[in-house]
Amino acid sequence: MENFRILEIKESVFGDNNKMADSLRKDLKSKGVFLLNVMSSPGSGKTSTIVKTIEYLKDLNIGVMEADIDSAVDAETVSKTGAKVIQLHTGGMCHLDAEMTKQGLEGLGTDNLDLVILENVGNLVCPAEFDTGSSKNIMILSVPEGDDKPLKYPLMFSICDILLINKIDAIENFDFDFKAVEERAKNINPNIKIIPISAKKNENIDKFADWIKDEIKKWKENK
Ligand code: MG
Ligand code: ZN
Repeated sequence: MENFRILEIKESVFGDNNKMADSLRKDLKSKGVFLLNVMSSPGSGKTSTIVKTIEYLKDLNIGVMEADIDSAVDAETVSKTGAKVIQLHTGGMCHLDAEMTKQGLEGLGTDNLDLVILENVGNLVCPAEFDTGSSKNIMILSVPEGDDKPLKYPLMFSICDILLINKIDAIENFDFDFKAVEERAKNINPNIKIIPISAKKNENIDKFADWIKDEIKKWKENK
């Protein structure tokens, strides 16, 4: 038997997503649950980054919501960390909105959780358009995708609090100008924090975990 369940998410009927997102954020705050929304293209390393990061957050009770159009491979992988996991099937939808996120949180069960990580559906377009009610937004850009992504998907870069540049160990093999990405991303979003990481080689994952701990601390202090 699997140690996670699969939840079929119903398409949202609630009209005002921003309103729903704000109400969900408030509700999560009152419950003491910090929600991280992780976004990227398919194959940038969301799941492997989440798995590695959980290793550095052992003093937190963590839940993970894996959103995909189909399959349960990511939930299977993440369940091995010991975190509480649910697989969300979006019925063809290529993003989650606040109402869908709420359904996922209800399915997961947030009692006693400090942190919920939402792995959003992999794409750089519409996940950026729908506030999920998250406390912080994370974007992962991997080196093989290229350094032009901030120019092509500015909205995604504008709504994220932190940008992880993954597969940095492979930078020699690609024509990827780290400085240019940094400049392009900061141009769109001057407050964005950028950390180069390698989930595979476990480089700087501790720094990302420290950022999460700091953000949770600030969020708790800010009543
Ligand atoms: Mg994944
Ligand atoms: Zn979509």
